[in-house]
Amino acid sequence: MSQQVSGVLSNLERVLLDADEIQARVAALGQTVGADFAGNELTVVVLLDGALFFVADLVRQIDLPVRLYSLTVSSYHGGMVSTGQVEMAPKFPFDLKGRHVLLVDDILDTGLTLSSVIDKLQEAGPPASLKTAVLLRKDRQREREVAADYVGFDIADEFVVGYGMDYQGHYRNLPCIGILNPS
Ligand code: 5GP
Ligand code: MG
Repeated sequence: MSQQVSGVLSNLERVLLDADEIQARVAALGQTVGADFAGNELTVVVLLDGALFFVADLVRQIDLPVRLYSLTVSSYHGGMVSTGQVEMAPKFPFDLKGRHVLLVDDILDTGLTLSSVIDKLQEAGPPASLKTAVLLRKDRQREREVAADYVGFDIADEFVVGYGMDYQGHYRNLPCIGILNPS
């Protein structure tokens, strides 16, 4: 068993964030969110697939009534560079009018994904409040400026995998976040 995990890990050039660091930071974020929304019900909307593990760990640290919805959004299509085209369902599949919404994504990169989802969500009817949480925020120029209200870690502009994030469908199951070997 451990043989297999080290097999996947051996494809990393280096580990950027280890499992313990991620868990500790996500727990602290969840507790902050819980305190900020105290007394309210929170509607969490997660962008899949990348934020799957992040949201699972995050919501379990939020001590409030939570509704959880997911949207499948894609802009990378398997490569290492954003295509700039954000693909998602044409209509918002649930009603967020009047709700306190926390939009959760794995990475804030160009900003196109979060800004497209925010536009669509506002069009569908304004929530009572709208905040965003990202596990990682890349240090780069954004194509669309998006203010992330909750950020796990600020990182350099490098392609990362692990803890839900993939390269061509692989590496999501790594417990840490790392940089792939160039090969
Ligand atoms: P944006 O729309 O802000 O450019 O990119 C956001 C999406 O691109 C993220 O939700 C994530 O799915 C994907 N993405 C951005 N950077 C990376 C990266 O370094 N690794 C992986 N696996 N996905 C990324
Ligand atoms: Mg994503």
